Amino acid sequence: MALQNRGLMVRRHPGDDGPLPQKTPLLLQMEDIPMPAAGPGEAVIKMERVGICGSDVHYWQHGYIGDFIVGESCLMGHESAGVVHEVGDGVTNVKVGDRVAIEPGVPCRRCFHCKTGHYNLCPDMAFCATPPIHGNCSTYYKHAADFLFKLPDHVTSEQAALLEPLSVGVHACGRAGVAMGSNVLIMGAGPIGLVCLLVAKASGAATVTIVDLIEQRLEMAKKLGADFCITSSTSETPEQLAARIEKTVGHQADQTTECTGAAPCVSTAIYGTRSGGTVVLVGLGRPKVEIPIVNASVREVDIRGIFRYCNAYPVALQLVASGKITAEQLDLFVTHRYKLADAATAFETTLNAVQTNSIKVMIEC
Ligand code: NAD
Ligand code: ZN
Repeated sequence: MALQNRGLMVRRHPGDDGPLPQKTPLLLQMEDIPMPAAGPGEAVIKMERVGICGSDVHYWQHGYIGDFIVGESCLMGHESAGVVHEVGDGVTNVKVGDRVAIEPGVPCRRCFHCKTGHYNLCPDMAFCATPPIHGNCSTYYKHAADFLFKLPDHVTSEQAALLEPLSVGVHACGRAGVAMGSNVLIMGAGPIGLVCLLVAKASGAATVTIVDLIEQRLEMAKKLGADFCITSSTSETPEQLAARIEKTVGHQADQTTECTGAAPCVSTAIYGTRSGGTVVLVGLGRPKVEIPIVNASVREVDIRGIFRYCNAYPVALQLVASGKITAEQLDLFVTHRYKLADAATAFETTLNAVQTNSIKVMIEC
C-alpha cells in the first residue's frame, strides 16, 4: 500500500489572493500532501517531533512576517527530528533507520556568506516554514542530508527537536562572547530568553540574571537555573530598571542578550551592560527604535545582531548529549505535548502562551 503523507498547513481563505492576506487568521488544517522522494544528496525522514515556534503561530494569525508572505498555503514546522526513511544517491552521513535532528535552513552553498561560513546570512536560504518554503510538521519530509545530524541513542527525538531553539541560544551566546565566569543578563524569559539561559549556564557563566514582566515565566527561569530573576514593570524607566538590576546582582553584566524585541528592553540592555561589554539583539520588534547610542558609544558597549544561527547544531547537540544541558531542564522546557491530529489545539496553546503558561509546545507526528 502506498504511504500516506499529511501535513499541517496554513492556507489563505478561498478567493483571498491579494498582496497580503485579507482575511486573518488563515486556515490551519491537516491536509494530504505528496509523498516526497529523495533525490541525490537528500533524505526522506519519517517525522517524530516538531516544536511550535512563535513564527509558526504568527504566519497562521497574520499570514506574513516582514517580506515573507504566505502565497496560497505553507506547511508549518521547523523545530524537528525524525528517523531516516530513504536516502538518495551519494548520501553517506546518514542511513535508513538513523534517528536525526533536522537543521531547517539550507543555504545556497555558493555565495560569499556561505563560502565564509556565515551561511545564515545567505540571501538564498531555503528555511522550513518560511514562505514559499514548506515546513516539516508532516508525516514524511525531504531534506538535504548534510543538514541532518545523527543522534546518539540516549538523545530523544523531543530533545533533538529542541536543538533548533537551542541553536539560537548557542549563536546568541557565541556572538555575545559568553564564557567561563561571565555575568550574563537576559532580557525576556520566553522560549528564546530561556535557551540563552540554558546555553549561558552550560558555557560556564558565573551568574545569569533574567528579566521579564511575567512572574510565571521567571518561575520557569528559576527552575531552569537562573541565578537572579527580576520582575520588571512598564512604569520603570530603562535607567531605573538597569540600576535596580545592578543593585540586585551586585554588578553590571559582561554580556546581555536582548530577547524581548521590546524597545525599552534594548535600552535597559545597554544601560545594564558594563563598559566594554556586549549586547546581542536577539529579539525582533519594531523596525526602528530610539536607543541610548551615545551611552553605548562612550562606554564601548558593542551592539551586535544575530540572525538565527550557523554551525550551531553540532554544538547544541554536544551540550545536550554531554548532559551540560540536562534532560530534566529540557523536560521542564516542554510544557505541552500534542498528537499531530491535535495540532490546532497545540497552536492555540502557543497563541495563548500567557494564559496556558506554556513555553514550548511539542507535536508528536
Ligand atoms: P516570546 O514573546 O515568547 O517571549 C518574549 C518575552 O519577553 C515574554 O516572556 C515577555 O513577557 C517578555 N517581555 C516583553 N516585553 C517586555 C518588557 N517590556 N519588559 C520585560 N519583558 C518583556 O518570544 P520568544 O519566542 O522567546 O522570542 C523572543 C524574540 O526573539 C522575538 O522577538 C523573536 O522574534 C526573536 N527571535 C529572533 C531570532 C533571531 O534570529 N534573531 C530567532 C528566534 C526568535
Ligand atoms: Zn549562500
